[in-house]
Amino acid sequence: MEQSYADIILPLAIKGRLTYSIPSNLLSLARPGVRALVQLGNRKLYSGIIARIYNNPPGLSKIRPVVDITDPVPVVNERQLKLWRWMSEYYMCSEGEVMKAAVPGILFPEGNTSAPVIEKYKPREESFVQLTKKFNDEELNIILDKLKKAPGQSALLTSYLHLSAFGTATDAGPVRKSVLLKDAGSSAANLTGLIKKGILECISLEVGRLADSRNVTVPLNKLSDSQSAVLDSVHKSFAEKDIVLLHGITSSGKTEIYIHLIEEQLKSGKQILYLLPEIALTTQIILRLQKHFGHLTGVYHSRFSDQEKVEIWKRVADNNPSGGYRLILGVRSSVFLPFSELGLVIIDEEHDGSYKQHDPAPRYHARDTAIMLAGFHGAKTIMGSASPSVESYYNALSGKYGLAELKERFGAVKLPSIVLANTREAYRKKLMVSHFTPELLNAIDEALEKEEQVILFRNRRGFSPYIECPECGWILVCNQCAVNMTYHKSARSMVCHYCGNSTAVPSKCGNCGSPGLATRGFGTEKVEDEIKIVFPAARVARMDQDTTKGKNSFKSIIRAFEERRTDILIGTQMISKGLDFENLTVVGILNADNLLNFPDFRAHERSFQLMEQVSGRAGRRQKQGKVIIQTSDPQNKIIRLMLRHDYYGMYKIQAEEREAFNYPPFCRMIRINLKHKDRAMLNNFAGNLGDDLKQLFGNRVLGPEYPVISQVQLYYIKTILLKIEKHRPLSRAKDMIRESIERIEKLKGSGGLKISVDVDPY
Ligand code: ADP
Ligand code: ZN
Ligand code: ZN
Repeated sequence: MEQSYADIILPLAIKGRLTYSIPSNLLSLARPGVRALVQLGNRKLYSGIIARIYNNPPGLSKIRPVVDITDPVPVVNERQLKLWRWMSEYYMCSEGEVMKAAVPGILFPEGNTSAPVIEKYKPREESFVQLTKKFNDEELNIILDKLKKAPGQSALLTSYLHLSAFGTATDAGPVRKSVLLKDAGSSAANLTGLIKKGILECISLEVGRLADSRNVTVPLNKLSDSQSAVLDSVHKSFAEKDIVLLHGITSSGKTEIYIHLIEEQLKSGKQILYLLPEIALTTQIILRLQKHFGHLTGVYHSRFSDQEKVEIWKRVADNNPSGGYRLILGVRSSVFLPFSELGLVIIDEEHDGSYKQHDPAPRYHARDTAIMLAGFHGAKTIMGSASPSVESYYNALSGKYGLAELKERFGAVKLPSIVLANTREAYRKKLMVSHFTPELLNAIDEALEKEEQVILFRNRRGFSPYIECPECGWILVCNQCAVNMTYHKSARSMVCHYCGNSTAVPSKCGNCGSPGLATRGFGTEKVEDEIKIVFPAARVARMDQDTTKGKNSFKSIIRAFEERRTDILIGTQMISKGLDFENLTVVGILNADNLLNFPDFRAHERSFQLMEQVSGRAGRRQKQGKVIIQTSDPQNKIIRLMLRHDYYGMYKIQAEEREAFNYPPFCRMIRINLKHKDRAMLNNFAGNLGDDLKQLFGNRVLGPEYPVISQVQLYYIKTILLKIEKHRPLSRAKDMIRESIERIEKLKGSGGLKISVDVDPY
């Protein structure tokens, strides 16, 4: 018999796949996507994934056999393997690194001698109640009539009919026994009675460990005329194009459009991936989706335990609509789930920077990856935003994507009015109360008076970005990074936001020894403190990385605000995105300058998007909202555009600038990061690589340079940026870059050097 070979991906940062032979006793189990146990090095066993099987002997001297195959069925499907391969090529990393990011860790214990078999995972069974047969209305009326003498049983049955949505389109399905008994406030004896009478029966069903929604679903909202028109135009675009950009102002009903598209896909038996940039957002949207699509809807993000992740994997892979998920709502890592028949990908807030993973590899952009994934499934993609990214809008204008536009808010609610508050002037006139202008304070006063709610946005967490000695100017910096340490008041510590390192708050200057260090600048924690002083009667909460560490912390902060137990919510980016609060009328942006002056070619685009998005939270129902933007530069052109909600104006200016200075979407960027603990060695290697690349790419190479943060965790950093014209073959350029890097990595003394590549690093 012919010998078979397998190329295997291991969850390690090694280049390429490894080849093993398949012993004949394992041949029947071997297929792409199953896990195989193999030996690497001397003794260590690793669990990897078989990517390819073939008979042509590879020209290798020594080929070891596969030790074992642990799955009767593939853990990942062929389209996932295809996606991994694409990612590793496009984002210049190994397939193993993609695999590590993609698959729940417990499936691939590193260096273990044995991997857990996926069957070892025990689904939990639970008791459900259902009707013994399909009774019609008349039969049920007779039954209920007869039960008049047994009111307990009658109440229980009525409760069942209600919970199971009897008589609706979704029809009477099984209801969880515990839920039913609780809802009816009934004893198990009543249930036994109904079972004895042959009306109800008990069955055992596999359920997730995850909280399940009740199976009650409600029909979709009717679309407004303008929404219907947009849905039609999306359909028309899909007839010709695979990707449509939905440009709709905040609260125009983009989510409603998605929901209608989802229903169509579900009806035709397809799966849907719905991407959001932030975990906090899933909390509200999931309720909206479950209301319509019940148990078909699942959520996926990094806060789940590995056990829970495996369960979600199984339910996504499960093609049986009674147990499987057909609609997944998730953040960027959801692109890795084992979809088998994706029909639609929705990318909400497509412009959002959180879709890009910067570290570790794969340094991928979830929007662009999801578009590829959709392509592999022959699925359509809709991406939505109130202020699309310049590159997506460019693609829409050039005809590569379809474009649909929603220009009015649902229910003809007006966009919020925007007030500029000049901080420089207020400081000069001594009208500032801590960090608040009179305009903002008045607006908050008014809102509180009317029992309406307020959100204050500040893109910086902690209390003060740094502390300084007023005598000599000394600042406490992280001993591992070239970064000021942030003062966290409630934690009573100084924290480095780059490496997480924390130390005690110094009581005196580290240079001249004088006491009385001053806090400088302000973060969300300080805003919270000060707001409480200015508005002592208001109930104040804060949402940022520090207050949302617990698994359910997002949920409880958001719920408290929804239920009006909070008057003023202070937060970072987290509160800026798609949240929908009925009673929120005032939004304050505490320091717009800070956004606008960020040293990045996208700073203006990002500021506009962020301000537009935060403002979009205000006045989403009957009342018109009010947004106060505090700035020392009210004439700034981005702020002027923002005043008029002029997205197109912003786009035009940005597109012109990018074309003139050669930035995406008019070129592609690849950034190479070099790190070394020894500064001189780093300079040497970076210079060497830079020279090499300049030979190949000429003036397309910028740097090497120290980035703004030039040292993190004891490593000095230098970057080299390549700008490559759109029409040049990118894969050829990548090959050349790879070769140059490999050459540098072979140089003497390069052991301490770390090189990483970031494709589309923005
Ligand atoms: P967007 O996603 O564009 O911000 P949403 O879809 O969240 O807008 O809509 C804003 C608000 O208006 C939501 O509370 C939503 O429930 C409501 N809404 C939008 N369209 C409709 C509709 N056709 N029927 C009922 N309510 C709607
Ligand atoms: Zn640090
Ligand atoms: Zn000092």
